[in-house]
Amino acid sequence: MASEGLSPAHVETAARGGALVTGSSRGIGAAVALALAADGWPVVVNYRSDRESADRVAAAVCASGGTAISIAGDVSDPLGASELFARAEAAVGTVDVLVNNAGTRADNLCLGLTEQDWEVVVNTNLSGAFRLTQRALVSMAERRYGRIINIASVVGIRANAGQANYAASKAGLVAFTKAVAAEVSRLNITVNAVAPGLIETDFLENLDESVIARFLNSVPAGRLGQADEVAACVSFLASARASYVTGAVLTVDGGLSA
Ligand code: NDP
Repeated sequence: MASEGLSPAHVETAARGGALVTGSSRGIGAAVALALAADGWPVVVNYRSDRESADRVAAAVCASGGTAISIAGDVSDPLGASELFARAEAAVGTVDVLVNNAGTRADNLCLGLTEQDWEVVVNTNLSGAFRLTQRALVSMAERRYGRIINIASVVGIRANAGQANYAASKAGLVAFTKAVAAEVSRLNITVNAVAPGLIETDFLENLDESVIARFLNSVPAGRLGQADEVAACVSFLASARASYVTGAVLTVDGGLSA
């Protein structure tokens, strides 16, 4: 891992480790991995099942002069999350930036949700973030430095019928962000959430056109967001410039929740 090309923000922190971005084989996570690599962070590109795409993201980082490695790991599984973190630390030294981005949805009206719909969504979106955060805090606390960024959703802030499980997981993630921020801010560790609105990724696949149209009607910007627009905000929160920002929820939603 060359130290050439490290951004001033990275050098300023005297950090020596890297960034772990969960669920970064595509979509928002992939854009975040590329943005953090451009900022000078060696990046761990995590995926659950799609190794080929994760390898492509890591290759793109390397092609643009960064350092990246792809590592498999299912954050919904306690053992999988633990092994992922251990392998990430082995790869980059210490995880100075943790982006809890891996997420899934299993939409239905509350009456139609199964136990499995509930479990898989909460276990991935909320419990996965808890598992990795807990692991990351150990070395962050020792080193008195860390940046944790949780990818929540506007759906965790404002109502969206048909996503009670997803909304609960994301609202939980917002509350989790604030509580942990209050616990560790004195250690120079910041914990923030980014809450995207509708972002054009595979995540929207199988979403009814009418649902997207209904949402877009309420978006002052009048368009879907792009993954790199979310990544730019994560890049800021991961930087030394955001040293006094903690416990915050930054909406990236074209004004939807305004
Ligand atoms: P995508 O569906 O495009 O990508 C999801 C990523 O998460 C993939 O890399 C996938 O890996 C990974 N993943 C899913 N489950 C797990 C798991 N158990 N363990 C590890 N990785 C996993 O989604 P987006 O990029 O759109 O979404 C990223 C985040 O942003 C999510 O948390 C989502 O809730 C949130 N978000 C998205 C919005 C949108 O409109 N797109 C709006 C608001 C929030 P693999 O392919 O290997 O399974």
